[in-house]
Amino acid sequence: MNKTENSDWPAGIKRTKQREQVFSILTKSDGPLSAMDICSLTQKDGNAVWLSTVYRILELFTQKALVVKTSMQQNDMAVYELNRHDHKHYAVCVGCNKIIPIENCPIERFIPEISDSGFHVLGHKMELFGYCRECDLKHR
Ligand SMILES: [Zn+2]
Ligand SMILES: [Zn+2]
Repeated sequence: MNKTENSDWPAGIKRTKQREQVFSILTKSDGPLSAMDICSLTQKDGNAVWLSTVYRILELFTQKALVVKTSMQQNDMAVYELNRHDHKHYAVCVGCNKIIPIENCPIERFIPEISDSGFHVLGHKMELFGYCRECDLKHR
């Protein structure tokens, strides 16, 4: 294992081997991953991390705004993605669970009125769900 691989480890999070492993998987992925996906990727690495541990790490990363969580209404599933500077939103198909990227972000032009004037916004979440083209045809 290359020790310098994660030299850009985020501040404020205690560095452990398993957290590094999950972080590295998220860094290399170009799409959102479920905890299950991450779990099986750690198995491929030869350093399997328990699913419950993966969940705990992802919850921590989400709390620290390191990761963006997208919930899937339908089946209690969630996918996770690194909180990159140019963030992306996804529409989720409730028919086949396909995740479709949304090209723009309407929330960026939206100025929230927050009663706590000192509130420091770190990010936002948007949930969009419906039927993809194929599923939509089936439901007509
Ligand atoms: Zn679909
Ligand atoms: Zn956005």
